[in-house]
Amino acid sequence: MNNASASCSARQLLRRGTVDANGGHDGDDEPSGDREDKPPAGGDACHARSTQPLSGFCHSLPGLSPTFPENERSQQFRNLHYPDVTHEQWSDWRWQLKNRIRRLKDLQRLFNLTTDEMQAFRRGEPKLPIALTPYYASLMDPENGTDPLRRTHIPVGRERIVAPQELIDPLGEEERTVVPGLVHRYPDRVLLMATRQCATYCRYCTRSRMVGTQSHEKFQGFRQHWRQAVDHIAGDDRIRDVVISGGDPLTLGDEELGVLLQRLADIPHVEILRIGTKVPMVLPMRITPALAALLGRFKSLWINIHCTHPDELTPEASVALGRLADAGLPLGAQTVLLAGINDDAHTLKRLYHGLLRHRVRPYYLYQCDPIPGSSHFRTPVAKGLEVISQLRGFTSGLAVPHYVIDAPDNGGKIPVLPGMPLKREEGDLLLTNYQGRTCRYPDGMAGDSL
Ligand code: SF4
Repeated sequence: MNNASASCSARQLLRRGTVDANGGHDGDDEPSGDREDKPPAGGDACHARSTQPLSGFCHSLPGLSPTFPENERSQQFRNLHYPDVTHEQWSDWRWQLKNRIRRLKDLQRLFNLTTDEMQAFRRGEPKLPIALTPYYASLMDPENGTDPLRRTHIPVGRERIVAPQELIDPLGEEERTVVPGLVHRYPDRVLLMATRQCATYCRYCTRSRMVGTQSHEKFQGFRQHWRQAVDHIAGDDRIRDVVISGGDPLTLGDEELGVLLQRLADIPHVEILRIGTKVPMVLPMRITPALAALLGRFKSLWINIHCTHPDELTPEASVALGRLADAGLPLGAQTVLLAGINDDAHTLKRLYHGLLRHRVRPYYLYQCDPIPGSSHFRTPVAKGLEVISQLRGFTSGLAVPHYVIDAPDNGGKIPVLPGMPLKREEGDLLLTNYQGRTCRYPDGMAGDSL
């Protein structure tokens, strides 16, 4: 383990685009929180060719015959902080999950934390657990607290400030939970929360009330709450579309995931399955050829990838996305609009163009949900409309997602468009949902600008 001063001077060499670092750390993190656990059993190690780099700071280790690419920045981070870890270990998704960064002292070893970030720990650990894969941490600027990916995963003191309109369950999912882990909000669709585990925890997560609260159960064939969910779906022939989310279902082992998908696919009235995941962005080595082949066996399976910023589009992500696309899986992307992180047309255009180059269709741009302590992430709706109007017509329609507000109180997703008449009452936006019901969205930060 390297000492603080050596770590700090070496970290300075890891600023984006500057590279020549070496140092030491044994990389022996162990999960510490009650809400987390160890990686699941099942699945395999990854073996693949590298593909076209996506961004300038990346390369694919010429001459080293890697089984998985490693961008230059991550390689330097590994050399500095995990000098005993081989490229093969680093490229193993289980190693990445086992060695997640979960505690303040580990963050301090890797990042020069700002006063604001330190404030998040003043009265103990934040409620939403912290987890960063070493890979994802390596994409962040260790010296700059405004780094976009860092802002999405390292808590700040403002996370402890809860505004009056913020809710633990802003979408009212608990109310529409019909059996444990199954939300039935729309007539023909259900949301199955297959796990509460994610590879990393986003500070703006809509399900911050529950993610990381349960350990991965040992694989025993089928989980009890899945059984109840499958029974519910099988018993309601209106349900034709099952969204499998969480948590992140791709943190499950191959065998377990395969069993769940098969049980759902076997229900005659279920026409499509959709997986929501951030894994290709934060743990791309999880998309092994075996996993891609498994998912590709399900003919009506769609993958929706949670992407935040073009900095996530590394050679590693490129291989992960390529494997999924090559397996025949239709890929979509969903992004949360985040203040100061991706709330400008230039950043989103770079993200969307990069995704399209990898056969991923931008699907939804979400207004950030008002979870407790999220005001520093939320933009006024006017900002989202401005960004969309700067994209429409200025790039191909494929690169322009639907901008939607997931309305509180079970309103569902409501699309908003530039030029659309919007009513306001006492700081709330009044929106009409698919049932014709008026829903209120607390857009208090928008002022009177709409
Ligand atoms: S990956 Fe999704 S479910 Fe997990 S913390 Fe991030 S937003 Fe929440």
